[in-house]
Amino acid sequence: MYKCNEDRMKDKINTFSRFGATGNGGITRYSLSEEALQARAEFEKRMEKTGAIIEIDDVGNIYATLEGTDKNAKRIVMGSHADSVKNGGNYDGILGVISAMEVLETIAEQKIPHKHPITAMIWTNEEGSLYPPAMMCSGIVCNDYLPEDIKHNFEYDKMMNSVSIEDRTTTFGEALEKSGYKGNKSYRLSRENALCMFETHIEQGPILEEAGNEIGVVDCVLGMFNQRIKFYGQTVHAGTFPMNKRKDAFFAAAQAILYLHEEIDKLGIKDLVYTTGEVVCHPCVHTCVPDYFDFSFEARHEDAKELEKVLAVVKSCADKEWAGCRCETVPAWNRDTVYWDKKLVGYVEESAKELGVKYQYIHSGAGHDAQFVSYMIPTTMIFVQSKNGLSHCEEEYSDPKHCTDGATVMLNSVLKADVSE
Ligand SMILES: [Zn+2]
Repeated sequence: MYKCNEDRMKDKINTFSRFGATGNGGITRYSLSEEALQARAEFEKRMEKTGAIIEIDDVGNIYATLEGTDKNAKRIVMGSHADSVKNGGNYDGILGVISAMEVLETIAEQKIPHKHPITAMIWTNEEGSLYPPAMMCSGIVCNDYLPEDIKHNFEYDKMMNSVSIEDRTTTFGEALEKSGYKGNKSYRLSRENALCMFETHIEQGPILEEAGNEIGVVDCVLGMFNQRIKFYGQTVHAGTFPMNKRKDAFFAAAQAILYLHEEIDKLGIKDLVYTTGEVVCHPCVHTCVPDYFDFSFEARHEDAKELEKVLAVVKSCADKEWAGCRCETVPAWNRDTVYWDKKLVGYVEESAKELGVKYQYIHSGAGHDAQFVSYMIPTTMIFVQSKNGLSHCEEEYSDPKHCTDGATVMLNSVLKADVSE
């Protein structure tokens, strides 16, 4: 079997870690920022050296393609994102880009024969850190194929008008124009020009490490729902109003969160994860009892029936009064479990087996560009072990050997796809 080069992988990991380095071991590299443009230039420079042709579509996605023996064959694509969250790490997203680059470099260096064109790509603005939402540009490119309830969130015009959360004035469209990366719509990934896509990514969880496995053969992205739980009380003065007469919306929410944890844990659903990650408090002043509080509640699981049970508990909050406050539950959004293409998943497993690395099947709890792409063309993912399961933080780390093995697994999966049709 063909193998990728660990020294070359290390060199790329180190080089890309400099673009947007925070000085604390991580990076802040918002999409289309100065730092992101440095990463893009580095990608193009290295890919041109392999003989790849660079194309850029109208939302800044970059495609570097090595021609195959059949010029009319559809391309096999590998890609991920090069942007990060604020104070993020050196692996989330960029490892998938680096791995795709490594595959092209290995093919070029070892002159590996292939029939289909093979493409390494960068998806623009996956994190949506500066210009929400996340997975913006795969959402635009795959829009025609997305389910109705997701689709409208990613309409082209709407996305171009997405406003920077930092200065509240610059739009994504303006930043794209200014970056010089507004290319041609005809270069977009499509059913017509692409056979399938692979995305390598760090696991972002502790499962592989705890099991002693370095590679995850990913079979799906978990389904999820996201609700807002709202509490309506009465603002009064914090110093003058007796405790027993208050309608404190914050206190109500605190009780409800405890209730949710207790009742949902009682369901005993294996592998369920649920989170309150976002809150709104009004007026959010230390001298005022809050009259309004709301929190997000999202839950993820493969089985829609299990999620239904959790949703029933969440909705039951609205049937009760909490610390004298009225409660309301409002759906924010949800998605069904997205399964990867079985044939491609099989190639990944075969490749991991042939390489002799320890691997296991695993679900993806997080969303990735691959998820939107899978509505359009056959798609799958490869996970690389994350140290201590940490991600979206500066401590994010994956062993260079594991990273290289991940790239090798992708290379051989691509080559299996190449001879399949
Ligand atoms: Zn990512």
